[in-house]
Amino acid sequence: MTYRVALTGGIGSGKSTVAERFAALGVAVSDADAIAHQFTAADGEALPAIAAAFGTEMIDANGALDRARLRRRVFADPAARRQLEGILHPLIRARMFEETEAISAPYALLAIPLLFETGQQALVDRVLVVDVPEAVQIARVQSRSGLDPTEIKRIVASQINRAERLAAADDVIDNRAEASRLAPRVAHLHRAYLRRACQQND
Ligand code: ADP
Repeated sequence: MTYRVALTGGIGSGKSTVAERFAALGVAVSDADAIAHQFTAADGEALPAIAAAFGTEMIDANGALDRARLRRRVFADPAARRQLEGILHPLIRARMFEETEAISAPYALLAIPLLFETGQQALVDRVLVVDVPEAVQIARVQSRSGLDPTEIKRIVASQINRAERLAAADDVIDNRAEASRLAPRVAHLHRAYLRRACQQND
């Protein structure tokens, strides 16, 4: 069985940046956001269920999901949002497990932004949290995407709070310093995960 390490953290904490560092060491990374995108791209497997639940007008002229339209539809409607999650999350989970089962490396990294919010922490062997203070999240997301701080704060507030996330972590990467400082910490965790994966498979 592949040893599975979940990589999570709030918006803008540095998950993608950390995932790239692990990938550079040869680690297989499975990315929940990328998979969600595949399922909702043109002819994506989630589209029939989404069209059945929310109407065929959610599919654009190219046969892909009209993301902006669906976002508006579920934005202020918790029941609709849950329905959408009920369609997407089981598909994403299954695909991540398929992808990581198929690898030959000892362990896989599963990048799952909403790991705790979707109650998936029990499905993995280890949880790695990337952490920065909220002010850093806001500043970095703002310079990445140009979203305004109010909108970023709304997203941060919709995610599990920092203290709870840290309390539930097995390992934490403090990403306050510049990204070039990540290398030794990532290398250290990589060695630890290789050891744990080998122990599991003994
Ligand atoms: P996430 O995937 O958690 O949303 P990203 O890895 O995309 O976060 O990081 C958010 C933004 O901050 C990106 O523009 C990224 O390049 C930048 N960033 C990540 N880590 C650092 C760091 N240590 N110092 C400065 N900028 C960083």
